[in-house]
Amino acid sequence: MQYPFKVEPLPYEYDALEPYLCKEILHLHHDKHYAGYVLKLNEILKNYPNLQNMTLDELLIKTDELPNEAKTAIRNQAGGVYNHQLYFAGMNNVECEIPTDRLALAINSSFGSIEQFRAELTAAAVNQFGSGYAWLILSNGKLEIIATPNQDTPLSLTVTPLLCIDVWEHAYYLQYQNRRADYVENWFNLINWDFVGSRYMSLMKES
Ligand code: MN
Repeated sequence: MQYPFKVEPLPYEYDALEPYLCKEILHLHHDKHYAGYVLKLNEILKNYPNLQNMTLDELLIKTDELPNEAKTAIRNQAGGVYNHQLYFAGMNNVECEIPTDRLALAINSSFGSIEQFRAELTAAAVNQFGSGYAWLILSNGKLEIIATPNQDTPLSLTVTPLLCIDVWEHAYYLQYQNRRADYVENWFNLINWDFVGSRYMSLMKES
């Protein structure tokens, strides 16, 4: 995937995540917020033909290759594209509380239990000050929970995100108003464990 970047369609219907996330939020979040990042990223790259053959991942990892005057803008817009695509892909409407197979083993060995994993991810999401994301990442082969501000992306040669929850107010305010903790609690019903598990397995194979 490279310039011109396309708005990826939602991998489910707009109302598929109800009652946990209403379709009005999904319309705004996908069609306006996420699509806006795609448009702005393309606008920036229009002026830099030498960056147009870089993939989205490369734009976020090979920051040394970006011109100084565009570095921050590209980090923000490419981050907005990457983070939203991962966020939308990490949800579905198949209720399944517990991951299976090797991912479950990895979660148990990294966090102690699935309950502890959930507690740590919840704390990271609820306590992130202002806008940002909480993440499950794979760092040098180990699972970790982190939080990042704004559209920062925890992506490098040794760190790859597996799952994220968007805690910008636009992700929940229409339905939950100021109750971010309720949104986070309900989001756990939406985690697409098949997606996270196959992402984990393919990364472990590469390393
Ligand atoms: Mn968002």
